[in-house]
Amino acid sequence: MIEKTVAELSEALASGEITSVELTRAYLDRIALHNTELNAYITVCEESALEQARIADEQRAAGSTLPLLGIPIAHKDLFCTKGVLTTSGSKILHNFISPYDATVVERMQAAGAVMLGKTNMDEFAMGSSNESSYYGAARNPWNVDKVPGGSSGGSAAAVAADLCAMATGTDTGGSIRQPAAFCGITGIKPSYGRISRWGMIAYASSLDQAGPLCKSAEDAALLLNVMAGVDDKDSTSISLPEEDFTASLNESLEGLKIGLPKQHFAEGLDAGIEAAIRNAVAELEALGATVKEIDLPNSDLAISAYYVIAPAEASANLSRFDGVRYGYRCENPVDLEDMYKRSRSEGFGDEVKRRIMVGTYALSAGFYDAYYRKAQKIRRLVKEDYARAFEEVDVIIGPTTPSPAFGLDSIKDSVTMYLEDIYTIALNLAGLPGISVPAGFVDGLPVGMQIVATDFAEAKLLNVAHQFQKVTDWHMRKPILRNAASQQREA
Ligand code: GLN
Repeated sequence: MIEKTVAELSEALASGEITSVELTRAYLDRIALHNTELNAYITVCEESALEQARIADEQRAAGSTLPLLGIPIAHKDLFCTKGVLTTSGSKILHNFISPYDATVVERMQAAGAVMLGKTNMDEFAMGSSNESSYYGAARNPWNVDKVPGGSSGGSAAAVAADLCAMATGTDTGGSIRQPAAFCGITGIKPSYGRISRWGMIAYASSLDQAGPLCKSAEDAALLLNVMAGVDDKDSTSISLPEEDFTASLNESLEGLKIGLPKQHFAEGLDAGIEAAIRNAVAELEALGATVKEIDLPNSDLAISAYYVIAPAEASANLSRFDGVRYGYRCENPVDLEDMYKRSRSEGFGDEVKRRIMVGTYALSAGFYDAYYRKAQKIRRLVKEDYARAFEEVDVIIGPTTPSPAFGLDSIKDSVTMYLEDIYTIALNLAGLPGISVPAGFVDGLPVGMQIVATDFAEAKLLNVAHQFQKVTDWHMRKPILRNAASQQREA
């Protein structure tokens, strides 16, 4: 049962085939069996999950039909969860029990979801491999010597390994789509403003966006229905007419115009990934779509612009962690300045410090025009590239990542790591929605296909992704997990 999609579980719960308590128990048992090896969860909320499940079963017996009633979810550990440890993968928050729930968490709860726990992530969502987590890297369920991707690596690993039915993540430069690709699941980064950021521990506020990681495009639509919507606690959330994202899943793709950016099929792309994506595009053509090559001329500038803007915003956002009000405080400070300095020096990891320094530098008086302002100009050019492309095509398709999941500890320098986000980062600069769906395998590791649409056209993305999943079964493939006990038996 635990391998089923949210849509399937909803039916099983509604028909009485299984109760939420039984289902929740099954996930908790699986977590107990495999989390040591996968390190997908930082916190598991066994008692409260079973209690929430019991209440969900009662509500169902009383006639409730909430959309996610009794379905177990995991939240990335940067969503504030009332009364539950919320670390953002950092030592500086290793003792932070949030006094309130993020809007996304609240909405999931109001829809009846059962919270299993909080998932591992790169520290403050800075990374593409989950290796910058204070809690150690999560592992890729397809091969535990590989990274699950990042920063939402714990959520992706948990969904792929059936340690939950669905999970939340956030995407600032690729952190939902890239781990979804590496772990063989479906993940969508909605348009900027679609989902409230309130209660999400901020990394780069003009780029951060929450979204679901799940087992199918249909599930992504169901989850987006719950997560999306304006929130008066987040002034950047946008008020749009309410939309049912499942409504257009079954529209025909006849006449759909697909653009393939030539920059996303160029040097640096793994040959196996390219072949898988071209095959996937051929499947869509067989469903009636037409394909043309498009040009995104400023693609190669996106990473550089991102690595000025994101650290600049991060340097401001992370100034609140000072050891005074909450989180880590150094021992025996001699005075206030010593406390600030040592709390931050000891509380933040290397990658976070690197970005605070880069960001502070880029924003400083003498360099603002040379770096920050220039990066913002590039951001505009990137946005215009996409606007021009969408005059000609309905969706843009390419690989989500240049290579399949790489080895743990295999990428040592930051810049090589930054290049991992080459196909995903531009969307955050432009505020556009993108989804990654499983589209094949290379050497036993999943391949992700990225589908991009214009602002607030998530329904179109989901429609294309769902039609693709109706004629392919990549999203249904499952990794074979081995835990310590089974490995011992084999040896
Ligand atoms: N890998 C990118 C970074 O390190 C993106 C991370 C994200 O989307 N949160 O900033």
